[in-house]
Amino acid sequence: MDFELDETHKDLQASIRAFVNREIRPVARDWEHSGRYPTEIIATMRDLGLFGMTIPEEFGGQAYDLVAFSIVFEEISRAWMGIAGILGSHSLACWIIAHHGTEAQKRTYLPRLATGERRTGIALTEPGAGSDLQGIGTRAVLDGDHYVVNGTKTWITNARHANPLPVLVKTDAGASPPHRGMSLLLVDSDSDGFVVSRDLGKLGYKGPESCEVSLQDVRVPATDLLGGVEGRGLQQALSGLEIGRINVASRAVGVAAEALEQALAYSQLRHAFGQPISQFQAIQLKLADMATETNAARLLTWWAASIADTGVRADTQTGMAKLFASEVALKASLESMRIHGSYGYSTELDIERLYRDAPLMAIGEGTNDILRTVIAKGLLAQASPKTA
Ligand SMILES: Cc1cc2nc3c(=O)[nH]c(=O)nc-3n(C[C@H](O)[C@H](O)[C@H](O)COP(=O)(O)OP(=O)(O)OC[C@H]3O[C@@H](n4cnc5c(N)ncnc54)[C@H](O)[C@@H]3O)c2cc1C
Repeated sequence: MDFELDETHKDLQASIRAFVNREIRPVARDWEHSGRYPTEIIATMRDLGLFGMTIPEEFGGQAYDLVAFSIVFEEISRAWMGIAGILGSHSLACWIIAHHGTEAQKRTYLPRLATGERRTGIALTEPGAGSDLQGIGTRAVLDGDHYVVNGTKTWITNARHANPLPVLVKTDAGASPPHRGMSLLLVDSDSDGFVVSRDLGKLGYKGPESCEVSLQDVRVPATDLLGGVEGRGLQQALSGLEIGRINVASRAVGVAAEALEQALAYSQLRHAFGQPISQFQAIQLKLADMATETNAARLLTWWAASIADTGVRADTQTGMAKLFASEVALKASLESMRIHGSYGYSTELDIERLYRDAPLMAIGEGTNDILRTVIAKGLLAQASPKTA
C-alpha cells in the first residue's frame, strides 16, 4: 500500500496549482461577487486539455485516471469551487457518451468536446423530480425518424453553453418499473423549441450558470438516442453519477483544505489577550479536527477513485467519499469562519465564499441522505444475514 501520490500525480498537482494561483486566485473574489463569467479561465482550461479528462485518447481526450481527475477538482476548488463545476458536469456527460454512446455518437461528439470547442452538461432534474428521477415528466415520442420532446428541466449547470445536452426523458411513459421506459437523448441546443428559460438565483456556486430549460416540441434525430436502444437512460445516467460523486467529493476536499489553510494562517496573525489566537486551546482543537477530517476525506476520495478506476461499480465507495467529504467541507468552512471572527463574515475575505459554496456538495450528485441509502443498500447486498 502506498498512500503517497506517484510522480505523475505530483507533477499534475503542481501544474494545476500553479495555474490556479496564477489565473484563478487573483480574480476569484471579484468575479464571483460580480457574477462575471470566467471566460478567460475557461480558455486556459481548454489549453490545459481539462475538457478531455474523461474522454479516451482515440477521440482526442486525456483519459485521466480518477485519482488525477480528483486532484484537478481539489486544486481548482481551493480557489473557486464554481470553476470546478463547469468542468464537473461536462466531464460527467463526456464520460457517459464515451461509455454508452454508439461509435457514430462518439465520433461525432467526443473530439470537439475533448478540446472544449464544444461543451456539455447533464439534464436530469425537473421542477417536480430530483432524487426521484423515475418521477420525471419529460416525454419523447417517436415521430418518423425523430423524437419529439416536451418537458422542463431545472438547475442545469452549463445550460447556456452545453451542446449537445444529454436530457433524461421518458420514451415509454407506461413502462413498469418506470426506468425501463427512460432514455437519454443528446439534444442539440440550437433546435427549435429548446429554450434556456431562466437563470436561478443561488447562495453560492457562482461562475457557472444554473438554469431552467424548457423543451417544447423539440425534434431530436433518433440517431441521437444515447447508445441507440431505448430504456437504458436511467442506468446510463446513474453510472455517470459515480464519477460525478468523485468530482463532488474532491471539490469538497478542496473547500475544506482551503478553509483549514486560511484558518492556520489567520490564527497566527490575529492577536487577542496578548498572544496569537493560535495559542488558545479552543482554536487548536478546531484546527486539529479540521486537519484530521480533511485528510480523512482526501484519502477516502482517492481510495474510492482508485477502486472506480479498476472498472467495477463503486457506488458504495464513491457514495461514502461524497457523503463524508461534503460534511467535512460544511463543518470546516463554518469552523474557519468562527476562527476568523468578524473577518470570516466579511466579503473582503474568502471564508464567506467557502461557507456559501460548501452546502452544494451535500446536495449535488445525490443528496447526502439519498447517498446514505445507496451505501446501506451496498452494505446489505454484501452481508449475509446471520441466524442467532
Ligand atoms: C447549484 C445546483 C446545481 C445543480 N446542477 C444540476 C445539473 O447540472 N443537472 C441536473 O440534472 N441537476 C442538477 N442539480 C439538481 C440536483 O441534482 C438536485 O437538487 C438533487 O438531486 C436533489 O433533488 P431535489 O432538489 O429535487 O430534492 P428532493 O429530491 O425534492 O429532496 C428533498 C429532500 O428530501 C430528501 N429525500 C428525497 N427522497 C428521499 C428518500 N427516498 N429517502 C430519504 N430522504 C429523501 C432529500 O434527501 C432532501 O433532503 C443541481 C442543483 C443545484 C442546487
